Amino acid sequence: AKADGKNGYQFFTNELNESVSRRSNLSMALRKGLGRGEFTVHYQPQIQLESETVIGMEALVRWQHPKLGMISPGEFIPIAEETGSIHRLGEFVLNEACRQNKAWQDAGIPPFRVAVNISAIQFAQKDLPEVVSRALDASGLEAEYLELELTESVIQSADRAIDTMHELVALGVHLSIDDFGTGYSSLSYLKLFPIDTLKIDQYFTKNIESDEKDAALVKTIIRMAHELDLNVIAEGVETENQVAFLKAESCNQAQGYFYNRPLPAEEIEVFFQQFKKA
Ligand code: C2E
Ligand code: CA
Ligand code: CA
Ligand code: CA
Repeated sequence: AKADGKNGYQFFTNELNESVSRRSNLSMALRKGLGRGEFTVHYQPQIQLESETVIGMEALVRWQHPKLGMISPGEFIPIAEETGSIHRLGEFVLNEACRQNKAWQDAGIPPFRVAVNISAIQFAQKDLPEVVSRALDASGLEAEYLELELTESVIQSADRAIDTMHELVALGVHLSIDDFGTGYSSLSYLKLFPIDTLKIDQYFTKNIESDEKDAALVKTIIRMAHELDLNVIAEGVETENQVAFLKAESCNQAQGYFYNRPLPAEEIEVFFQQFKKA
């Protein structure tokens, strides 16, 4: 047992060393990659359930490293947050999403909003409203076609969270709460924040067919959102039955693999034509 314990420990430290060095390699590679155009933005359609039309696209960053291949944002976003690269990375995504959405509008595609994820670290940065305003000016995109997705964690990270939100709303952009229900904050913020959309986390959507309690939670979130005059969108929708459930509960919008995976910008136009025909 003693030998096993020792081996176990050895194994653990090796694994730990490996993950520590991968992290530090990635944090260096991140900074370099930003200057080398290794990052792109993919887009996932958001569907209005009643009319079955596209009402938005969520911008999701992608990193194709020349040697390590595709690295998932779930891995590199936390590293970018810890090392401060999130500011440049976030600004890149914001600029790119605004530019792309304007280009789609100019190409004659019916206008929709582009939703950009804003990390709590970015949100706490004093000049976020200026960064957003610059992205709008540079692209020529009207503010109403930009939505910023914030998580509940912005409340902990910025004392001036509500003031910052009002500054952003004053620019004309829309705000949504991402991953709703997975944080630890109290619900009281819902009446204080100038938001217009709640995004139900895929953690709840996933089990609405199999778990009565998750189904009850999703129904309750939808009703609460509507009572508060908020729009509600379900994330991670993968099946027809989930769509039927959400429609029956009058959920406003849905997003997920059932409709589409996040796609490169070039494929969005193709998707759009097919979606309109269907
Ligand atoms: P998120 O904002 O909650 O984004 C939704 C994630 O769910 C995306 O993963 C998306 O590809 C995935 N997804 C969409 N539909 C489905 C589905 O039907 N089933 C399943 N299982 N998954 C689905 P992705 O792109 O890997 O991003 C992971 C997380 O990384 C995001 O979660 C977000 O927190 C962060 N992230 C991605 N792009 C950005 C960005 O530009 N800025 C910041 N700050 N964070 C980002
Ligand atoms: Ca999101
Ligand atoms: Ca989410
Ligand atoms: Ca998430």
